[in-house]
Amino acid sequence: MTPMTMTAPASPPARPTLAVDVTDTIRVDDAPRPWLLAMKRGIAGRCPRCGTGHLFSRFLKVAESCDACGEAFHHHRADDLPAYLAIFIVGHVVVGGMVSAETYGDWPLWWHVALWPTLTVVLSLLLLQPLKGAVVALQWAHRMHGFGGAEDEPVPDPAAGRR
Ligand SMILES: [Zn+2]
Repeated sequence: MTPMTMTAPASPPARPTLAVDVTDTIRVDDAPRPWLLAMKRGIAGRCPRCGTGHLFSRFLKVAESCDACGEAFHHHRADDLPAYLAIFIVGHVVVGGMVSAETYGDWPLWWHVALWPTLTVVLSLLLLQPLKGAVVALQWAHRMHGFGGAEDEPVPDPAAGRR
């Protein structure tokens, strides 16, 4: 049996230090974002932040970022909401108009055939872009889906725990 020798414990390894100050890389934009002004700008197809740049690069294609202030739009998630809103509005106008015309008017059939499908298509095309602009601007104003500077938390798979 060898005698135990007492040695001084080795000094703990030096903790690595961060070369980059992480507080500089996280920018929290907490400036107020008035949702009504943002939605007005979105309806007009303008950037909800500056009101100058374009929100859309094509008819219903949201631009990657504002061409005036650089605000990123790529993380918007309007999805089907603008189409749903357009269907909701156009449906009420057209069906309400049809029922009113049948109830109170005495229109020939060809007026109905000519008017209601045309009105449906025209109103839908007129409403889709402003509605999508309003939805994206509302998401921006409420800092949803990455508009606040932080990415969305990944949604956990509910089926993962049952396996
Ligand atoms: Zn802008």
